[in-house]
Amino acid sequence: MAAEQALQVLNKVFGYNEFRPPQADIISTVIDGGDAFVLMPTGGGKSLCFQIPALVREGVAIVVSPLIALMQDQTAALCQLGISAACLNSTLTASENASNEAKALTGELDLLYIAPERLVLPQTLSWLKQLKLSLFAIDEAHCVSQWGHDFRSDYLQLAMLHEQFPKVPRIALTATADKRTREEIIQRLALDTAKTFVCSFDRPNIQYRITQKNNPKQQLLSFIQSEHADQAGVVYCLSRKKVEATADWLRDQGINALPYHAGLSADVRLRHQTQFLNEDGVVIVATIAFGMGIDKPDVRFVAHLDLPKSIEAYYQETGRAGRDGEPSTAWMAYGLEDVLKLKQMMAGSQGNEAFKRLEQQKLNAMLGIAEVTTCRRQVLLNYFGDELPQPCGNCDNCITPPKTWQATEAARKALSCVFRTDQRFGVTHLIDVLRGKETPKVMQFNHNAISTFGIGTELSEAQWRSVFRQLVARGFLNVDENYGQLNLSEQCRPILKGEQSIELRLDEKRHNSTSSTKKA
Ligand code: ADP
Ligand code: ZN
Repeated sequence: MAAEQALQVLNKVFGYNEFRPPQADIISTVIDGGDAFVLMPTGGGKSLCFQIPALVREGVAIVVSPLIALMQDQTAALCQLGISAACLNSTLTASENASNEAKALTGELDLLYIAPERLVLPQTLSWLKQLKLSLFAIDEAHCVSQWGHDFRSDYLQLAMLHEQFPKVPRIALTATADKRTREEIIQRLALDTAKTFVCSFDRPNIQYRITQKNNPKQQLLSFIQSEHADQAGVVYCLSRKKVEATADWLRDQGINALPYHAGLSADVRLRHQTQFLNEDGVVIVATIAFGMGIDKPDVRFVAHLDLPKSIEAYYQETGRAGRDGEPSTAWMAYGLEDVLKLKQMMAGSQGNEAFKRLEQQKLNAMLGIAEVTTCRRQVLLNYFGDELPQPCGNCDNCITPPKTWQATEAARKALSCVFRTDQRFGVTHLIDVLRGKETPKVMQFNHNAISTFGIGTELSEAQWRSVFRQLVARGFLNVDENYGQLNLSEQCRPILKGEQSIELRLDEKRHNSTSSTKKA
């Protein structure tokens, strides 16, 4: 019965033929008055999971959503479909809010979106008691988790919805929740009796590749030209300046590239976005500002010229490729500078110690994917608590297994050089010392007279950079927040003492495309 009604609404109101696998079960659960906890990747179709029950059940559904912009997009989209939806938030005028409240009272609304800070006010709660409520939907439920990346203190109070409205079913939804976050959500929102629906996070049609940076723009260009010529793609950069420079350069090379970042006027952004959506083969070069709510099915590649700060970010950004299920590539060029820059940024970030630690842990998990020598997809999925029993066969490490080398001696030399120079210098200087270069700076500090001067001539500068990158990425060295000097972490003691050996990834001069990779 519930299932039939749900399908009818899906066809008639939303114009879709069938449910995606877990949607039907989730929707039936809520229509029948049960609680549900839904873990589904972005783009999986979470919204319908509460919108359809909201239409089938009697009364108004209260949707809690932390982003006012998304709230407004969703209500606008619903209204276009002829569904009666509205929101209450701080960007509306007092009279607009009052009018929406009045509509809710008279039973005109099927969905009412409320910002969390407003919902938890005592007057809102007592007002809600006068309404006939069909359900509570808690979107972006990971905001309740302190371990999660967008913690909202108002979300903590949402547990009382259950106490104050025990008969109203609740559905909590999120796209990002590792095991720990998941447990925290269930506990904090009192969802222990909720039915949990976990969809696979695997995107088998996306090929994951992370290549060592040497000439990133050129590497990007050859990647696009050799594998995705005239196809739609997104290139992510960290700064607006780099977005502009990269887009300009790609255009000069004949790629139809357009910049997108928050510093451009709304006009320009809209125009570039529209071109990307409607024309063939447009490459958008963007900061992370781009992507929210963009739903283009045939994006064939997502490229990163800077390392994302977390696996969640990496997964979301790369997830914009291949929504249509066709083969697509998630490509990234990554190098020592990325590690140093992000580590330095985080060491100097605002916020309390717990927050900094969290940021560091997230970055370290991302670095783990960048440096791993086994299947990248296994690491990625494992992070989300999803398991892939076999290596995927569709990531660079599976296609061309990277070689490793016994680097204990090199690591020990690098670490002692940091120690002998009093942990006050950056990588370039350390490499000069190791390689015995008498630069003015080396002379100025008398570093030509220390025991580590010239002990590393067997490795090239690039090889040393690779060693340092991996030592920093693996946490043997810390980066100072002010000038990026390296210092030793507790962890490097056993290596210095000769009690631990270490293998490092051998960075081959791989040229970005896997197909053209030569084995050394
Ligand atoms: P999420 O919130 O999980 O990121 P959305 O709810 O925004 O995802 O849905 C992503 C896209 O998939 C939307 O364009 C939505 O209309 C579409 N969609 C969802 N469910 C279905 C379905 N059963 N059939 C076809 N399209 C669907
Ligand atoms: Zn793999």
